[in-house]
Amino acid sequence: MRHKIVAGNWKMNKTLEEAQALTSEIMGMVADEVNGSVKVVLCVPFPYLVTIKNQLGANATIFVGAQNASEHDSGAYTGETSVAMIKSVGVPYVIIGHSERRQYFGEDAKLLATKVNKVLAGGLTPIFCCGEPLEIRENGTHESLVKQQVEESLFHLSANELKKVVIAYEPVWAIGTGKTASSQQAEDMHAVIRKHLASKYGAEVSESISILYGGSVKSDNAKELFSQPNVDGGLVGGASLKSREFVEIVKAI
Ligand code: PEP
Repeated sequence: MRHKIVAGNWKMNKTLEEAQALTSEIMGMVADEVNGSVKVVLCVPFPYLVTIKNQLGANATIFVGAQNASEHDSGAYTGETSVAMIKSVGVPYVIIGHSERRQYFGEDAKLLATKVNKVLAGGLTPIFCCGEPLEIRENGTHESLVKQQVEESLFHLSANELKKVVIAYEPVWAIGTGKTASSQQAEDMHAVIRKHLASKYGAEVSESISILYGGSVKSDNAKELFSQPNVDGGLVGGASLKSREFVEIVKAI
């Protein structure tokens, strides 16, 4: 059975004090609301990883994640953070290839393939993001673009490696815009991704991969999105910054 996952991407938001308060509110509410069938991941800014990890303690449902990792192992890369560093503070998840990294930091498919390799080699779980910009959705080539993104950054992996990857489909036109993909649009693309994985790795591997939807997920659309057979949870940006809203999304799964 595939894992159900709801990951919050806090991006570059919150002070330490605010981050601790948000975590504590989420911990309080998730303890009551979730029955162990879902994993919650809080992808917090780098300076807070250790504090939030310690705050979560042995929580069996909520985990901490990083939002990026360097493609390099160590050395003269000022401002960068390696997988070994992330691993050394006990953080199990790393978002790789978020559209904001692709757009503002020029991260391309080849670089992302290297980052995925590093994360897997470190024994951590990459949450690999893919998704098309608006003009590609409008010209109708969205399925081939997303297949290409998956192919170029993941298809070099062995089946055993691929099984450790979580994929997040995030149409760029839906991120932070309030414009969510319809549940049918999400389901259609998730099915395309799963079929594409099956064409290379076979149905058993493909059926084991969790594919999350991201793009303006909110408490009022989460249930409908998560009810789709190929949608295994969500990667949530803006709505993950409000405890009640985020926990409602977790409950929707
Ligand atoms: C994201 O940043 O991954 C995201 C999906 O953002 P939002 O939920 O705000 O659209």
